[in-house]
Amino acid sequence: MFNKVLIANRGEIALRIIRSCKELGIKTVAVYSEADKEALHVTFADEAVCIGPPQSKNSYLKSTSIISAAVITGADAIHPGYGFLAENGEFSEICSETGIKFIGPSREMIRMMGDKATAKETMRKKGVPVVPGSDGIINDVNEGKKIASKIGYPVIIKATAGGGGKGMRIVEKEEDFETLFQMARSEAEAGFSNPDVYIEKYLENPRHIEFQILGDKYGNVYHYGERDCSVQRRHQKLIEEAPSPIMDEDLRKRMGEAAVLGAKSINYEGAGTIEFLVDKYKNFYFMEMNTRIQVEHPVTEQIYDVDLVRNQILVAAGEKVDTLPLQEPLGHAIEFRINEEDWEKDFRPSPGRIESLNVPGGFGIRVDSHVYQSYIVPPYYDSLVSKLIIWGKNRERTIKRARRALEEYVIEGIKTTIPFHLKVLENEKFISGDFDTSFLDNFLKDIKLKS
Ligand code: ADP
Repeated sequence: MFNKVLIANRGEIALRIIRSCKELGIKTVAVYSEADKEALHVTFADEAVCIGPPQSKNSYLKSTSIISAAVITGADAIHPGYGFLAENGEFSEICSETGIKFIGPSREMIRMMGDKATAKETMRKKGVPVVPGSDGIINDVNEGKKIASKIGYPVIIKATAGGGGKGMRIVEKEEDFETLFQMARSEAEAGFSNPDVYIEKYLENPRHIEFQILGDKYGNVYHYGERDCSVQRRHQKLIEEAPSPIMDEDLRKRMGEAAVLGAKSINYEGAGTIEFLVDKYKNFYFMEMNTRIQVEHPVTEQIYDVDLVRNQILVAAGEKVDTLPLQEPLGHAIEFRINEEDWEKDFRPSPGRIESLNVPGGFGIRVDSHVYQSYIVPPYYDSLVSKLIIWGKNRERTIKRARRALEEYVIEGIKTTIPFHLKVLENEKFISGDFDTSFLDNFLKDIKLKS
């Protein structure tokens, strides 16, 4: 087992990883930028190293500084969390060349799955249904147009290196194709240093349903059911839940088997997520794989009674997965992303000082957060300040408990998405589980019209 793990991240996920390390008896090293001197991950780690100025590209994304911090402190492994360097194949390779274990997949696995166009090709060859579209990357406008008219409009142009709902363009008709194609390519170049794009059929009002998997080096791959992440604003997740309100035993079995097959086909080790789109006839299509721990992992932890980060660390150290999936999930869990955003002003960021704070508690409540009273939320990073995860015996009781917890949650000094979540919880469609990826954008349009 590792002696000391360096956490190459910040915020709630850095704390989350420190917690699992402590329970495993592993020492921890935090890294932090100058903007994060007062952060809790710095306080709770056994050691902390400053790795540079506030901007991520000069600190949390700077692999040389992170590796140096690991060498100086004698860390034998690095956990990347999510975002930053988590899906950077080169970083994974530098770690192994330096004799430090990267708690995540190898460069080769990241290449095969982190690149979305290649991942789809790999899955298609294994017989997993994929969203119809181009065979890999399309560089030429005319070739793109041909493919788009063959699969039929609307289509979506996606960056092969994309993520976080960015680098995607929907094209409704042929005359818009060229402009949007060029836009997507330059956005991809600017955002991900890779202009390559591919084309997919734009499915109408699908649900986003993803499967959690864990694999070890002995060839065991298990799935821990699904998460429904259809409540999205502009393709970015805001509320996630497990199980999915539309799931049945047969569909879970078929989708779960496809997810495990996909992961086994690349001998995947560690935690990963296989994302699917599901249409109204319950046909499912593979969309992409994430080769890391995800923001929304706690909903799975709650209903499968599994510590996913603990297992990630164990399998990276060469052990077997230590918590096998339950036959049946236990109850229901919903995660609300509490962001520092003013939802009434188009969700614009609202960093600043937290003047007062009351965190909800009681049975079935979990709060994964790095903020405290008088903490100053810096403007440099993503807007997540807290994840409120609610567990209940069934969906109905979970929703009632969620209302109660959101009402108890007081964060003053900055604007947050708490009042927005309370509004969503009043919506009939949400309450009845009848929603898809278009739900939230329509919900927001309705609110605007009424005001
Ligand atoms: P990212 O990795 O940036 O999050 P994804 O490929 O996971 O991007 O897509 C994010 C969201 O965009 C999906 O959850 C879905 O709502 C929407 N989306 C992506 N591809 C399609 C498609 N082919 N048809 C309909 N919606 C799509």
